[in-house]
Amino acid sequence: FYLDRPFTCRDCGAQAVWTAKQQKWWYEVVRAHIDSRAVRCLPCRRARRTALAASRAAPGANRLGDEVAWLRAVSAAPPDAQTEARVEAALRSKWDGVRKVAIEVLGRWRRPADLPRLREWAHDESLGRWSAVRRAAAEALAAASNEKTT
Ligand SMILES: [Zn+2]
Repeated sequence: FYLDRPFTCRDCGAQAVWTAKQQKWWYEVVRAHIDSRAVRCLPCRRARRTALAASRAAPGANRLGDEVAWLRAVSAAPPDAQTEARVEAALRSKWDGVRKVAIEVLGRWRRPADLPRLREWAHDESLGRWSAVRRAAAEALAAASNEKTT
């Protein structure tokens, strides 16, 4: 049988209790080693788990996802100066995924002034034949050109 065990959290120094029920689960369900015991309070365990998961993910992955979501959201409306500046920055991003979506934004904005650079990216041999950036530029160019002629 198990008894509630008070302990001091290794990370924050808080007093915590490892309950009999938690111990039963730990040893009988998880089948953890008999010498192992709780050393961190619940908030610290959660914080540690979150931090470990974040460090396992690719560095910058969340930031990248946020940027792509933002770019998708702005493409529906005509841009203001601030939005334009951020899209310009995204166009120079070192991540192809971000550049590609930024180019798609230009495609949806359909500004005649963007046509020359879309054309340039679409034909940029240095990007390689299967580049997502190149393909996005070609598609944006096609969309923008159609708009102009109709
Ligand atoms: Zn703690």
